[in-house]
Amino acid sequence: MSDFVVGLTGGIGSGKTTVADLFVAQGATLVDTDAIAHELTRPDGAAMPALLAAFGPSVADVHGALDRGSMRRRVFADPAARAQLEAILHPLIRQLSLERVRGAGSPYVILAVPLLVESGSYRERCDRVVVVDCPESIQIARVMARSGLAEPEVRAIMAAQASRQVRLAAADDVVLNEGSRDALLPQLRKLHQKYLRLSSEKAKANC
Ligand code: ADP
Repeated sequence: MSDFVVGLTGGIGSGKTTVADLFVAQGATLVDTDAIAHELTRPDGAAMPALLAAFGPSVADVHGALDRGSMRRRVFADPAARAQLEAILHPLIRQLSLERVRGAGSPYVILAVPLLVESGSYRERCDRVVVVDCPESIQIARVMARSGLAEPEVRAIMAAQASRQVRLAAADDVVLNEGSRDALLPQLRKLHQKYLRLSSEKAKANC
């Protein structure tokens, strides 16, 4: 069992997924709350019965998975629907992520949470917080290239997230992702060594 949890966060397009994959390549276990949300809303996902009961059959696509586009439009226009959606999904995501963190066999776990800084309950679970950071102009360019969204849409998503300053203020460690992917490697190697050391110190202190 792994007892050392590193929360990984960053704004949209900062490079969280890219950085998480590099931690995994070095041997860390990744527990990704976004991926868990997708699992829960697959056709046979554990959240689907409650979502169908709350919102009706139109929330599912032809395969029985959550129709994310339609749900997004609905909660955008209706705060009560958003609260209802979150009341169904968030406890399930928390429970499953906790189980996976507990079950991990690696010396430390990367717990990827896009809104970690905004969420007190995830922060409490983390021994450290690592923030993936880059200038906002790069975030916007990456998300536009990846998703085809227009700049105002990307800016609207960013406006709903913590600002770069607030996120950095919450960081114990920062991965700067403003250059090439290769520039990430030395930063990641250093952090990996640091987390191995800190997790082993914590394990000794708990003995
Ligand atoms: P997030 O998970 O934070 O939204 P991603 O890791 O998915 O960010 O990165 C956003 C996009 O930018 C992806 O298409 C990814 O391949 C690309 N990307 C991330 N880091 C770099 C980099 N250093 N150089 C070039 N492209 C990058």
